[in-house]
Amino acid sequence: MNEATDATADVRNVVIVGSGVAGLSAAVYAARADLEPLVLEGPEPGGQLTLTTDVENYLGFPEGVGGMELIQNGKDQAERFGAEFEHGTVEDATLADRPFELELSNGDRLRTRALIVASGASARWVGAENEDELMGYGLSTCATCDGAFHRGDDVLVIGGGDSAMEEALFLAKFADSVTVVHRREELRASEIMADRARDNETIEFRWNTELEALRGSQDEGVTGATLVSHPEGYPLEQAANGADVTRETVDVGGVFYAIGHTPNTDFLAGTAVDRDESGYLHTRTDDAGRATTETAVEGVFAAGDVADPNYQQAITAAGTGSMAALDAESYLETLERTTEPALEVSQ
Ligand code: NAP
Repeated sequence: MNEATDATADVRNVVIVGSGVAGLSAAVYAARADLEPLVLEGPEPGGQLTLTTDVENYLGFPEGVGGMELIQNGKDQAERFGAEFEHGTVEDATLADRPFELELSNGDRLRTRALIVASGASARWVGAENEDELMGYGLSTCATCDGAFHRGDDVLVIGGGDSAMEEALFLAKFADSVTVVHRREELRASEIMADRARDNETIEFRWNTELEALRGSQDEGVTGATLVSHPEGYPLEQAANGADVTRETVDVGGVFYAIGHTPNTDFLAGTAVDRDESGYLHTRTDDAGRATTETAVEGVFAAGDVADPNYQQAITAAGTGSMAALDAESYLETLERTTEPALEVSQ
């Protein structure tokens, strides 16, 4: 083995951080380009779709498809072309030097020429009193995971977007009553989802209302919640500004948060990758003004929800995953033309 080969022996061509639909789509494209990508599955392998029941708006499935099934099929497809999957969560990234270096939570280090960040986004928490203690004990961010524990309960869903409607509709199969608590009078959810929730007799709405505190214990689970209302909406903000608000404590057996997501980009905090104030990654346009998936660091690409505060759809994540792999492939070709030794696929 010559010295040049030694120097590249443990360097991957491309590491994909995240195994949701964006990461899988990137893996299929990168694997088909013979880049032998390594996919680090992250703390929630398969990403958000594994927490969903039926996906009805993913093109090509006229009857819908299960979220788990879609993810498993994507993984099988990527593996078929040579993608490798490993359990692992990136804690830190050094992107100032080439190759890039990633440090995993188990202390392992990986080196890679190109990096695709598809680490997705995690459910946001409201900030209500006692939520730290009760998360997982009647308080949840995932109705499909925990809904069945609430047969016969009265439950609250916090939020007014598509996720809240989806959670409420799922919970309505088990719970005696589902109350959607929304901080203003108008839903953010799409009409079709909002109509389904409105048409469901088990679902009620509490407008201009927010959750302030949770009652219960880890032994009993959630037993109640304090709700705050103001006729002009955003009641907690109104209360902080000294307005009169109405407080009510209700008995409930479960509370589900559905107030959006925060991108999983903390591991990039010490790098030159550009993020907005919420942590979403910025991608840049090329010299011709065309959109790319490349971040502020050459060779680092972003795909899926991690760079998308706007659409956040499975199909858009899959689209940007494929784009990131194509961009990474072009980058690696440029690298191959401009550096010695030539690229070799390696473990
Ligand atoms: P979202 O659209 O951002 O909605 C979040 C909701 O939570 C909003 O109604 C927001 O209120 C409320 N909210 C945010 N912070 C809050 C706080 N601190 N306290 C109380 N309420 C708070 O998030 P999402 O529902 O998770 O949806 C994200 C994306 O995924 C969207 O593009 C959505 O279309 C998509 N999605 C699609 C489907 C589907 O098609 N089946 C299912 C789920 C999600 P305001 O309205 O006042 O801002």
